[in-house]
Amino acid sequence: MSRRPSDRAEAASVAPALRAYGDELAAGGAAQVGGAFTDDAAADAFIKSVPEAFLIGVLFTQGIPAERAWAGPYRLATRLGHFDLARIAAEPESVARAVAAPPALHRFVRTLPGWIVAASRRLIDEYGGSAASVWPTGGHVLEVTERLRAFPGIGEKKAVMAAEILVRHFGVALEGAECGSVAYDVQVRRVFLRSGLAEEDTPEAIREAARRACPEAPGTLDLAAWLIGRRWCRPRRPECGECRLGDVCPRHVDRDVAGVGARRTASRP
Ligand code: SF4
Repeated sequence: MSRRPSDRAEAASVAPALRAYGDELAAGGAAQVGGAFTDDAAADAFIKSVPEAFLIGVLFTQGIPAERAWAGPYRLATRLGHFDLARIAAEPESVARAVAAPPALHRFVRTLPGWIVAASRRLIDEYGGSAASVWPTGGHVLEVTERLRAFPGIGEKKAVMAAEILVRHFGVALEGAECGSVAYDVQVRRVFLRSGLAEEDTPEAIREAARRACPEAPGTLDLAAWLIGRRWCRPRRPECGECRLGDVCPRHVDRDVAGVGARRTASRP
């Protein structure tokens, strides 16, 4: 779909405001987003201090609220009594029981355990048991994204999200910021559509809009858009008066993402 002059004018106003919010979040780190991946301090510390827990946490970030997802690795470790990758890889039945025991750690009690076991095996076989080796300092963001995508259970959306979190929250120095992107996530999509940054709800249109809005580092917009979507730009009754984009957004509130409701299933911290 071609972009009308008014669309371009809208996007021209919104883009700097969204970039400014993204820069502010990046400068402030996790403290700007509440300081936590989860509501549980111990689970939060686990995700932040153990790279393997972060990678396994990425596997959880699908179909359930973000806080519950990021708490998954800690709760798994608590139920198993360890977080030993070799034992996880060798004891799939134990992992399956730990995930499925009530209350289940995830909706996907059949698929998630297999992903966890496979990821543990892959980390041992290809990365010496160190998830940090998946995202070495100085690595290229596209290479890291591809490595993440090679793990069963991590698709494009999760991989892009994880790479952005590594850079923004954990300070991992990756090359190629201009090649970063936004995840094709329900919150990001809604904000891009309603703010006029994007006119179509396709992965290509959303990512192209991010590149137009912030050519030097499109990924900067990822967390900013996600937070706006979650805090203010809700599917029903968006709080435009409170929104960070409220002064510049054309407020196309009739636009929404097809096929999903108000579930908090996206996965940023
Ligand atoms: S909440 Fe309102 S002002 Fe904010 S992005 Fe959504 S439509 Fe725009």
